[in-house]
Amino acid sequence: MHSYIPAERFFPYLSWPQVEALPDKANTLMIQPVGAIEQHGPHLPLIVDAAISTAVVGQALHLLDAAVPAYALPPLYYGKSNEHEGFPGTISLSAETLRAVLMEMAQSLYRAGFRKLVLVNGHGGQPQVLELVARDLRHQFIDLLVFPMFVWGAPHDVEAIVGTTEYEQGIHAGDVETSVMLALMPEQVEMVRAVRELPVLFSPDSLLSLEGRLPVSWTMDDLSESGAVGDATVASADKGSQILASVTAGWARVFEEIYRFEGFDLSNRKRKITEDTQANK
Ligand SMILES: [Zn+2]
Repeated sequence: MHSYIPAERFFPYLSWPQVEALPDKANTLMIQPVGAIEQHGPHLPLIVDAAISTAVVGQALHLLDAAVPAYALPPLYYGKSNEHEGFPGTISLSAETLRAVLMEMAQSLYRAGFRKLVLVNGHGGQPQVLELVARDLRHQFIDLLVFPMFVWGAPHDVEAIVGTTEYEQGIHAGDVETSVMLALMPEQVEMVRAVRELPVLFSPDSLLSLEGRLPVSWTMDDLSESGAVGDATVASADKGSQILASVTAGWARVFEEIYRFEGFDLSNRKRKITEDTQANK
């Protein structure tokens, strides 16, 4: 059941006495892969975002220094994917349901003594929900650190591997996701059905964008006939392996930094301000 995750790092394989006996629960990383079951064009399976978030977490945990305590939680397959509901097969939770699932999962971990929760999200349609969850948990528990992160947020060389155009415009089921899926589970990819669909959405001098500073709301039906945005026809397993190696190495670094991160210490800063003020007198 642990799929890409090292068995010794798969939290559901522990018994309750083993959880109770963990030596440093407050500084053990609890890592939740967050996916989606949603259409990814005619050539990719619905599982892409769940598969990629789980595989990246699993492979990064293989690279992680054994001295860093970290466990992967069972992957959350479902996400908030209503922008893809125009294409059959997409299964979407509402923002409220996803929020409730993540909040209650985090509250259970808190009760057990854990204080660091890392959300590794593979689906571009839900970072906003994860950020709200992280803020609300921070508000609820003063000593809980939550990291609402995107799987492509860690350092990586993806732009160099697929080129700048595809890196910027291939936002869904393009070269990146198709190549990674060819590396992970080639038997689930139908390359004969791969498409190249790169819609021109705004005029060159437009200030508007799909995401970022000046966004406009959209669903995938607005953007694409195939359900894909990008060039999947140039994807290859070789590129997918390079992308995975790069991204997972980045995640191992992120996990190590989270392990070392002790939170914000306002008392130190207050003391520093007082000293600076007195020095300036
Ligand atoms: Zn995706």
